[in-house]
Amino acid sequence: MDKQELRKRNEAFVRKIIEEDPLYFDELKKGQTPEFFMLSCSDSRVSPSVITQMPLGNIFVHRNIANQVDTRDESFSASLYYALKYLKVKKIIIKGHTDCGGIKAAWSETADEELQGWVSKIRSSLPDKSEVVNSTNELSKINVLKQVEHLKNHPVYQAYGKKVEVRGCLFHVESGELERLI
Ligand SMILES: [Zn+2]
Repeated sequence: MDKQELRKRNEAFVRKIIEEDPLYFDELKKGQTPEFFMLSCSDSRVSPSVITQMPLGNIFVHRNIANQVDTRDESFSASLYYALKYLKVKKIIIKGHTDCGGIKAAWSETADEELQGWVSKIRSSLPDKSEVVNSTNELSKINVLKQVEHLKNHPVYQAYGKKVEVRGCLFHVESGELERLI
């Protein structure tokens, strides 16, 4: 897919929407009131709006490799703060997925030097090697549950989001199913 292809696809997107609702973009430009804040992995197969078929304006999204919550990550903290304080989202969803490259790299400890810093963060949320784990998909689940815990202890959540529900889920790339974990 080249640059031309992206442009063509965007033009088709605009055309389709305007055919259905000529005033769609007039409404969209008025602002956003998303119900959800979602933390997702960056993996190209797990795009939150695509897999949930949610229209624009419904999900405020933050993405990083293996959907990590880290209080030292200013980018994530800023997204969380904005979502809670100004957008007043109703739910926070942490979404991991099966076949996650970040989880695999952390578990096998074979990441490139440039990735070591981030991968070691992921590693700290996974069980000790001595524990029996059936599959990397099981590790993806464990990771999501750990990030839910981190989120609930995050100072921004503690200050602005205590009443906001936090959910954890796992997207199955092999079937398309979004499984609720918590
Ligand atoms: Zn991933």
